Amino acid sequence: MKLVLLGAPGAGKGTHAQYLTERYGLPHISTGDIFRANLKAGTPLGLEAKSYMDQGLLVPDSLTVRIVLDRLQEEDCQAGYILDGFPRNLFQAEALSEALAQKGQKIDLAIHFDITEEAILQRMSGRRVCPACGATYNVNGLPPLREGICDVCGTPLIQREDDKPATVLKRLAVYREQTAPIAEYYRQAGIERIIRSDQPIEKVRAELDTLLGEQEWQ
Ligand code: AMP
Repeated sequence: MKLVLLGAPGAGKGTHAQYLTERYGLPHISTGDIFRANLKAGTPLGLEAKSYMDQGLLVPDSLTVRIVLDRLQEEDCQAGYILDGFPRNLFQAEALSEALAQKGQKIDLAIHFDITEEAILQRMSGRRVCPACGATYNVNGLPPLREGICDVCGTPLIQREDDKPATVLKRLAVYREQTAPIAEYYRQAGIERIIRSDQPIEKVRAELDTLLGEQEWQ
């Protein structure tokens, strides 16, 4: 099963991807996590990505598309994957479709987590991430068991630089202009499914299970 998760920054893509990975055993491929891991390791890719990320802008397509297509060649992706944060504009969506079509493959579902901008702003101010393993929490709805500490690996949690208010507003504007149109792209392909993500997390998970239970696994 090849899934694309759509939705504004803060819509819950990362959190729900973590659940889907545990539940269905599919690898979670997050371009944001790939860039952050490179930044942490001090690679040239990480340093180049940082200048865009800090401003809430998209990293150039030439770089991003190549990284994702390379990652999809790896062994663990052969039975399927969950793409989170990619594609983020029409160019990337088309590049992905074309690369898959060359192998006789396609994206099965684009799950669109829909939420109002007001709810996003509230959510992002509460978001905390683990700098070591990437797990995400929210002080307003999905807190860790011990305040400020990652449940998975025990590392102190941080607020991402780009979750600070001015950058969040810029990221939302970029989302509206560049990313929102790809929902229409997948709608026209007949594979967009909308799930309201301003509901309790258990409800979202139940809807995901229903949706994926209806799919034919390959
Ligand atoms: P995320 O963790 O998905 O919110 O991504 C954090 C930042 O990484 C974004 O604000 C962009 O600067 C960059 N980024 C992540 N995914 C992409 C992508 N598909 N295309 C371009 N830039 C991206």
